[in-house]
Amino acid sequence: MAYEAVWMNDTSKLNKFEFVKMEKDGLDVIRTIIEKYSKEGYSSIPEDDMNRFKWAGVYEQKPRDGHFMMRIRINTGIMTAAQARMIASIGRDYGRDLIDVTTRQAIQYHWLKVEDLPDIFNRLEQVGLYSFEACGDCPRTIVGNPLAGIDKDELIDTVDIVNEVNDFYLMNRDFSNLPRKYKMSISGNVYNNALAEINDLAYIPATKVIDGEEVIGFHIMVGGGLSAKPHMAKPIDIFVRPEDVLKVSIGVTTIFRDYGYREKRHQARLKYLVADWGPEKFLEKLTEIIGEMPSRGEDKTVGWQAAYFDGVHPQKQEGLNYIGLNVPVGRTNSDELEQLADLAEKYGDGKVRTTMSQNILLAGIPDDKVEEVLAAPVLQRLTPNPEHFMSRTVSCTGNEFCNLAVVETKERARIVANYLDENVKLDEKIRIHFIGCPNACGQKHIADIGLQGSLIKTPEGMVDAFDIAVGGILGPNAQFNSPLKGRVKGDNIGDVLKQLIEFYKAQRNPEETFN
Ligand code: SF4
Repeated sequence: MAYEAVWMNDTSKLNKFEFVKMEKDGLDVIRTIIEKYSKEGYSSIPEDDMNRFKWAGVYEQKPRDGHFMMRIRINTGIMTAAQARMIASIGRDYGRDLIDVTTRQAIQYHWLKVEDLPDIFNRLEQVGLYSFEACGDCPRTIVGNPLAGIDKDELIDTVDIVNEVNDFYLMNRDFSNLPRKYKMSISGNVYNNALAEINDLAYIPATKVIDGEEVIGFHIMVGGGLSAKPHMAKPIDIFVRPEDVLKVSIGVTTIFRDYGYREKRHQARLKYLVADWGPEKFLEKLTEIIGEMPSRGEDKTVGWQAAYFDGVHPQKQEGLNYIGLNVPVGRTNSDELEQLADLAEKYGDGKVRTTMSQNILLAGIPDDKVEEVLAAPVLQRLTPNPEHFMSRTVSCTGNEFCNLAVVETKERARIVANYLDENVKLDEKIRIHFIGCPNACGQKHIADIGLQGSLIKTPEGMVDAFDIAVGGILGPNAQFNSPLKGRVKGDNIGDVLKQLIEFYKAQRNPEETFN
């Protein structure tokens, strides 16, 4: 380890997993996978290294029978057509064709075997992609504005900044042993396209007059995160010039690494340290590490569009358009991704973009080519004009593949969205998020209607059920949703949501929105 951290001085209060990380850095498991486990097979993997697989971006899939899921980091959610094709081919060769878009703009495979991993790592690397540190106690995929560079509503194109920060952290052993996962968001979009408030460290657009000139840069927020105890990130009183983003990121991550809690894993996220210290003490420590920074300027976030982009929209470049497509509950496949890559190359800017709402965008489409793109076979399912509820339904992986899940989510979410589309008419889009356990990968807390899986006892035994919460929103009026009383059987969710939405529709005031 290349640094000396405060927590190393006293190991008496470390949780069990800290000793696993100290004994062998999580990143070292990548070599062991390549040299040993891929040759000797699933049964040769001891428990400690299985837990370190996360640093390779790999988790055991449910049931534990030798299959794995893998996440691939997609910086800012922007991949080239060549990268998309490689992702598709790996999915076809090893992942039974399933390709999921996650709520952190990453790509997720299932059904992988340990024998396949070296070839997958290699093939990803050939196109500049990595699964490494997409999971684990380290800086994970950096989310950003998927419209970066083409966005009429961005103050600054953040693609290069995200790449710079990503390249600094990826495989960096100074920061590969953090107390828990660490999530960053960097966006210049004024509608909070990268969901700042639920990240450990977020950069949002801001300006400040310095030496008589208006400078475009960022404000930062720290200590956000969901799970069982959700926290909104808190603003810190600094203004960050674009060239200082990496320096500030290193400062914040150093605080987390050295002062973050390592005693109880469920209290190890940065949000607990920020809640205890408060923004002032946090700024004091940050200043000690990186030096004085200018104080806050003018915040430029004006609202929140929940990272939804369906339809055809003009870009900031005259005569060009982006098309927001719906990926029902975030699940696509190799054929579709290849077809999107072909369209991106033939008609657009050669990029395929993923969003935090689990959807996909194509961009750079000239005005006179839009109709041709809209007629493409792949856009008939991944449509820019989705049904109302299907367009706003998000789901985590659930117990189809996830070992932590209490209930099934993805297929249920798809069925419920279809049911609502067939049975409820509403002039307003309502966002519905499903999660299979309190870890909240499907970001239930920020949904208009959030559904969290649990179990209830019935005469027939334990059955899937959901707790319902309503009214989540980010942006200037950010608040997590509030739980409703009671718990609803999984089979009744469609009907209960129909009644809830119809009740709202009948009772709302003329200017009132669901939120
Ligand atoms: Fe698994 Fe829970 Fe995350 Fe869903 S929210 S993917 S069930 S850990």
